[in-house]
Amino acid sequence: MEAISKNFFLYLSNNKVLDRLAKRYGSRFGADKIVGGEEFSQAIPLIEQLNEEGLEVTVDHLGEFVNSESEAKERKQECIETIQSIARNQLNSEVSLKLTSLGMDISEQLVKENMEEILEEAKKYDVTVTIDMEDSSRCQATLDMYKTLKAKYDNLGTVLQSYLYSTEEDLKELLPYDPYLRLVKGAYKESGKVAFTEKQSVDENLKRLIKTNLLNGHYTAVGSHDDAIIDYTKKLAEEHGISRDQFEFQMLYGMRNQMQKDLKDEGYTVRVYLPYGEDWYGYFMRRLAERPANIAFAIKGIFSK
Ligand code: FAD
Repeated sequence: MEAISKNFFLYLSNNKVLDRLAKRYGSRFGADKIVGGEEFSQAIPLIEQLNEEGLEVTVDHLGEFVNSESEAKERKQECIETIQSIARNQLNSEVSLKLTSLGMDISEQLVKENMEEILEEAKKYDVTVTIDMEDSSRCQATLDMYKTLKAKYDNLGTVLQSYLYSTEEDLKELLPYDPYLRLVKGAYKESGKVAFTEKQSVDENLKRLIKTNLLNGHYTAVGSHDDAIIDYTKKLAEEHGISRDQFEFQMLYGMRNQMQKDLKDEGYTVRVYLPYGEDWYGYFMRRLAERPANIAFAIKGIFSK
């Protein structure tokens, strides 16, 4: 049953017609519980509130699969303005972005130029930028771009997904770059040819990745809401005397709020991933796929609008 609903929502997440309808009719189906508004200005008070509570933030301007150069440039400009706004408002926030939103499917040169402009601006204000990882067909190109840019910009992170067979090898290749990595399980629909399909294998691989990155002395963001993964990271750090300033926990906005506060109270760094923007549909559907319990507030949202 769980697998069926997961596949169903992942299928919906890629449905362009529903995406257009969702935008056009603007009904947010309860998405406002997990998305920080359609404009960055709406996200600012939320970030301030999270910062006041001792939580750090990374903001993501929602949107992927841009197909024209002009749209990719608009996305770049939006990222730059977000960085400027973070600095102006003295927010404790990083930025996350997707390379497809900056023209990855159009040309490598375009995405590189857009990223360089963003990273130049981010460097001015000491803002870290993390490249989210998308589906497996874009993984190698994303890692190649990360390596190219990391050689020039230190304020750059990326994401590795433990469901991919190739990730352990990818991590080894990244180690010489002193990577800032968010380690996650992976959110896309992938075939058994490239990804573990058993939850246990995905979880075990995530633990291996966390251990490898931390024991190699690299900063690690553990992006998970899973108690087992969080407990594993805490124990690993204790056993190996890994300082708490070498890692952080990252969770999505609106997910496990109490756990976020508890970890912060225990003295761990917790960063909340706060998405905003008009393109909330695909993000929202992927979250439903991960956790059907989220359907409860979505259904409530439909009837309360
Ligand atoms: P799961 O494996 O989904 O769940 C394990 C257990 O955790 C559940 O049984 C339950 O006990 C508990 N749990 C999980 N969610 C909740 C909840 N909402 N409330 C209560 N309990 C819960 N994926 C990508 O592919 N690319 C990315 O760039 C990316 N970036 C991410 C950034 C962040 C900050 C986070 C947190 C995730 C990101 N993901 C990304 C998504 C990630 O890959 C997983 O799909 C997602 O986090 C679900 O896996 P999980 O480890 O949180 O828990």
